[in-house]
Amino acid sequence: MSQKNTQHHLYLNKIAIVGAGASGLFCAILLAQKGYKVTVFEKNHKAGRKLLATGNGKCNVTNTNLSLEFYHSSNPLFFKYGIENFTYEQFEKLVFSFGLDLTKRGTKIYPASDQASSVVDVLYSESIELGVEFYFESQVDNIQKNNNFTITANLQQYSFDKVIIASGSGAMKKLGSSESGYILSENFSHKIVEPIASLVQLESDNYDIKKLHGLKCEANVTLLINNQKTTTKKGDILFAKYGVSGNSVLDLSREASIALNEYQCVDILVDIFPNSDKNKLIGMLEKKQKQIPNKKKEFLLLSLVHSKIIEYIFKQAKIKSEKHYVKDLNKKDLQALVYAMKNIKISITKSRGYEYAEVVSGGVDTTDINPKTMESKLVKDLYFIGEVLDVDGDCGGYNLHWAWASSYVLAQGLK
Ligand SMILES: Cc1cc2nc3c(=O)[nH]c(=O)nc-3n(C[C@H](O)[C@H](O)[C@H](O)COP(=O)(O)OP(=O)(O)OC[C@H]3O[C@@H](n4cnc5c(N)ncnc54)[C@H](O)[C@@H]3O)c2cc1C
Repeated sequence: MSQKNTQHHLYLNKIAIVGAGASGLFCAILLAQKGYKVTVFEKNHKAGRKLLATGNGKCNVTNTNLSLEFYHSSNPLFFKYGIENFTYEQFEKLVFSFGLDLTKRGTKIYPASDQASSVVDVLYSESIELGVEFYFESQVDNIQKNNNFTITANLQQYSFDKVIIASGSGAMKKLGSSESGYILSENFSHKIVEPIASLVQLESDNYDIKKLHGLKCEANVTLLINNQKTTTKKGDILFAKYGVSGNSVLDLSREASIALNEYQCVDILVDIFPNSDKNKLIGMLEKKQKQIPNKKKEFLLLSLVHSKIIEYIFKQAKIKSEKHYVKDLNKKDLQALVYAMKNIKISITKSRGYEYAEVVSGGVDTTDINPKTMESKLVKDLYFIGEVLDVDGDCGGYNLHWAWASSYVLAQGLK
């Protein structure tokens, strides 16, 4: 597959791809390499609009740790075949053959340029070189199947042997995304698992938390559903006027959104000292107390935590206002301060919704899709790849890897 096909003039079937996003572009290249005549319909005026915004403009393309635990679907393990049969090394080798250099940061992989535009430029130019045809500003409004498929876009009709729906999800519509893929799929009797905003910031009404806006720190963040601890994620947390964000929060947002959607009570518990246990912290405070007994009590936490959060911690620890100095604090006060630092409880009212979500969980029900070919089990020659399917991943390049892997599996399976 990594070799460029020099015989791509010997066109096999005519294939239409709906969507020139991550999966559509990648799939177009792989199929054109095999000699297929590929036409891509894109409703935006250019390819890869969402891709350009990924990873804060740097595009976290994949991850060296592609463990299945980072993926989710209501049909668990649908994604197993795709993820296990397309490693990050295979991705690296393939895109290098297109001219894209990558770099590693921890387990996350980015374009060496740190520019998402490099990914789009390389994929798009490779497609053009291989003879892929693009129709921009061409929203596919209808797909009919008789012997062949008839696609309607801009009131024009086009005929194809095979159709691939790579239309993504409705997450972050300001980037031109759309849910039209669900409607096209439903017309072929495919069921849709209810889409729920995921990898999204969470909102809180807590006034004290809103006052911390701008504060960013490393933390362990635990999700509480109906006061029961469910999942803990380690990573950064960002306090904002609307509530909370950061990688740890985004990774919990899928579970939180589902619970909120079911009207369950959702809180998060934030430990801003994830690397120190309670006793170690109490020891640290006792030592510091001996060094600065006559300073104002707030000095005990100064330089240990961000200055913005000190007042909040003293308030949560319920330290009496008549205690002014470090020396006034007793052992119970120190314990209460440590408890407050390791258990910041924030009640969550809702997620910020699709407009801010990086992905959605839910989409085309994968029970009707063959995981080894991505072909519909209901309609021959109809395929689905990428985020339009009910598969989503955590932060860290997992969603783009699914876009690449599902495209690869499709291309490999197409005889
Ligand atoms: C802000 C942001 C940052 C992100 N960062 C990362 C990251 O760093 N790493 C990561 O792994 N993932 C990231 N993601 C998620 C990732 O971008 C998506 O999972 C991925 O782009 C999905 O690829 P796709 O091809 O399925 O869909 P898309 O890339 O969304 O492409 C779908 C395309 O189909 C087109 N389309 C839709 N309907 C039609 C129609 N009817 N007719 C014609 N065209 C149509 C759309 O215009 C779009 O161009 C991020 C997402 C966002 C929003």
